[in-house]
Order: sequence, then C-alpha cells, then structure tokens
Amino acid sequence: MIRTKKIESKPLNFFEKIYIIEVIRGFSVTLKHFFINLFFPSKIPTISYPEEKVLLPGNAKLKSRHRIKLRSDGTPKCVACMMCSTICPADCIHIEAAETETPVEKYPKVFNIDISKCVMCGLCVEACPEDAISMDTNEIAGGAYSRFSNFQKDGLFLTKNELFIKLKDEKISKLGAANRLENEYGERND
Ligand code: SF4
Ligand code: SF4
Repeated sequence: MIRTKKIESKPLNFFEKIYIIEVIRGFSVTLKHFFINLFFPSKIPTISYPEEKVLLPGNAKLKSRHRIKLRSDGTPKCVACMMCSTICPADCIHIEAAETETPVEKYPKVFNIDISKCVMCGLCVEACPEDAISMDTNEIAGGAYSRFSNFQKDGLFLTKNELFIKLKDEKISKLGAANRLENEYGERND
C-alpha cells in the first residue's frame, strides 16, 4: 500500500500575490550586476573566452588540449607508430613518419591534430606505447574564429609548433623508447 503525505503550502499574502515586491527585488539584483559590470569589471569572474584563456586552478584534472612530450635533448618522445591516429574515433590525427639515424628509427615529420573534430575521448593517450602524447596542458580548446587556422592564431588546428612542448617544471617520464634505449644500448636519451 502506498502511503502519501499531504503538505499544505503556505498561502500567499496580498503583496506576494501581486508580485510587485518580488519583481522589484529581481530588478535590483539585475541592476546591481549591471553597474558592477559597467564600473568595476575586475570584480566579476567573467573571462572573455576565447580571446582570454586562463589556466585552471589547482590540480584540476581534465582532458585539455594535446601535446607531445619531449626528451631532455628536445627530440619528441613520439616514434611515429600511428597507434594514436589508428584508434582515434574522430580521425583527426595526421602523422607522417620519417626515419632517424638513431635506434628509435622513426620520428613524426608531420604531426597535426584537428581539434575541431576531436571529441576529447583520450583514447590516443591510452593507446600510446611511448607515453608520448598527453592531454595535460590545461588549455581548453574549443572557441576559435577559424577551424582551419593554427591554434596560436585563434584556430583549431594543432601542428608540431603547438604540440611539441615541455611543460614548466615537468619531470621527464622514463616510460617508452627512451627507457628501452638505456637498457638495450646503455644510451640515455631522456
Ligand atoms: S582525444 Fe580522442 S578524438 Fe581527440 S585526438 Fe585523441 S583519440 Fe582522437
Ligand atoms: S601512439 Fe604515441 S608514439 Fe605512436 S604515433 Fe601516437 S604519439 Fe607517437
């Protein structure tokens, strides 16, 4: 058997019924924010995105725009294995491989990500056997004036210039090819 409990709501008084006081209260809040926005813009937490981009505070973990990690000698950790572009459900990673003289054998001569197609699923990061690609820049990609322009020019297209970066105070990861090189060749490339 279903038991129900009837809750009587408090009846409105005369002033509540005509709503005038509530309308005035609502307008006063709107006007307060209007004048604060007009005369004290520094007091409002509004960011003019995408012109203004801010880093997220603290240790917020989110999938932000991609980067390719670098070794300490400045070379990319990516070995152009194409695992990330193969698994990408949006088909937005384009890599062209070239040969190197080092035991790593291959490097990405071209590495582009079209963020306008990316669904930020993170599968490319999961698939990478070299721990080379990450989504930890804390930059939120999304707002832009042109999907075909370069990311640094308010576009949504990432090339090596934007992707191959080292974060401030980043500790170089020993996962991947660099670690294998050390074990197999006694050579330390990261
Ligand atoms: S996050 Fe997902 S959609 Fe975006 S590049 Fe990586 S695999 Fe492709
Ligand atoms: S999976 Fe990693 S190593 Fe392979 S191409 Fe992508 S970023 Fe480079």
